[in-house]
Amino acid sequence: MNKAYLGIDIGSISTKGVIIDENNNILASSYIWTLADPVNAVKKLLKNLKQDIPKNYTVVSVGTTGSARRLIGIMTGANVIKNEITAHAIGTLSKYKDVKTIFEIGGQDSKIILINDGIVTDYAMNTLCAAGTGAFLSSQAKRLNIDVKDFGKMALNSKNPTKIAARCTVFAESDLVHKAQIGHKKEDIVAGICESVVNNYLNNVAKGKKITPPIVFQGGVSKNIGVVKAFEKITKEKIITDDNGHLMGALGVAILAKKEKEEIFDFDILNLDFETKGYECKKCPNHCEIIAIKKNKKIVDAWGNRCEKGSLI
Ligand code: SF4
Repeated sequence: MNKAYLGIDIGSISTKGVIIDENNNILASSYIWTLADPVNAVKKLLKNLKQDIPKNYTVVSVGTTGSARRLIGIMTGANVIKNEITAHAIGTLSKYKDVKTIFEIGGQDSKIILINDGIVTDYAMNTLCAAGTGAFLSSQAKRLNIDVKDFGKMALNSKNPTKIAARCTVFAESDLVHKAQIGHKKEDIVAGICESVVNNYLNNVAKGKKITPPIVFQGGVSKNIGVVKAFEKITKEKIITDDNGHLMGALGVAILAKKEKEEIFDFDILNLDFETKGYECKKCPNHCEIIAIKKNKKIVDAWGNRCEKGSLI
């Protein structure tokens, strides 16, 4: 039997999973939409991975990361549950050991991670404004009636990107409508949107951060060549992207799982009856929102309470 390690990165928009061997080679991977249902997203993800893992490999350790990492960690009996910053840094360092700056733009959030000598020295995350994220690109593509997959290539045809206000989604959207009405070419507007995503990112998430090459750009938006080129134009630096850039968090946490105690992972574990339930603690004016996870109708974990009085377990 050859040993394999499973990493799951579950975000609000997408759920990513990889299975690696002992040398960090990816044996199987899957990328699906979370669709506001992390429990079912992970069930589907595991079904895909189970089909693709080579028959002579067995998963002996599991790691989870992403916004629903704890929920999914409990469900899968994960050996390690880590925040996204650490997971992305470890995943990226496994492929680019000299990396100094990681730009990450996902569906609904974005982050910057600064690394020195293989150690995270600083980071910042943006979860408040959608203007510098994939969700903004998708909504603008829809507005312009363009498939978001064609967005990047179309941007490359522009010789004169339209300037689009980048401060926030609302400003950017109204500015875009105005620019389209006064006759700017579609490819110029598309290139302008890519630049506005980059400007928003640099002026918000990366504000005050020292950007040092080598720079690796990852997350779903790194697949958009228009945004990659806009980053190169604005930062005047080479931007490295990776075919597996959207899987770096899952890869990182799979690598971390290698250090944990080994036990054979049963892919059928998720056939058990899992459900989540929200409660509001009314024992003080804080009214904490508590999320409980139930396995076969019994609460196995709960979080969100700011003090012991609200503990459900
Ligand atoms: S969990 Fe604690 S802090 Fe939160 S509402 Fe209940 S008593 Fe108040």
